[in-house]
Amino acid sequence: MKSFRRKGWCCSGFRFRAEEVGKRGLAIQVREGASGQPRFVLQSRAVDHGNEPFVDAGRPLTLVSESEFRYCPWCGKESARWYAKTWRELIKPEIIGIEIEGLD
Ligand SMILES: [Zn+2]
Repeated sequence: MKSFRRKGWCCSGFRFRAEEVGKRGLAIQVREGASGQPRFVLQSRAVDHGNEPFVDAGRPLTLVSESEFRYCPWCGKESARWYAKTWRELIKPEIIGIEIEGLD
């Protein structure tokens, strides 16, 4: 993990967003797809992970929104290729997102 953190990132933009997963704001979440393939998701959270039950807006509110991507939004490298050997190290299973149907 130490060597990965030092030189494994495709760019600093990806690294910063991957380290923000679960926090309020924009982050990259890596998941394992139904066929065992990596899935890279750009995720926006209104509140930190775990604080969702405490939000009482009185009307419908989007707490988490996501969009799957294939190429890094910052440097353009193909993420599944760049992280082919290391993507599992980026999975944080305790951070639950929303399910995107039909993208596996
Ligand atoms: Zn990148």
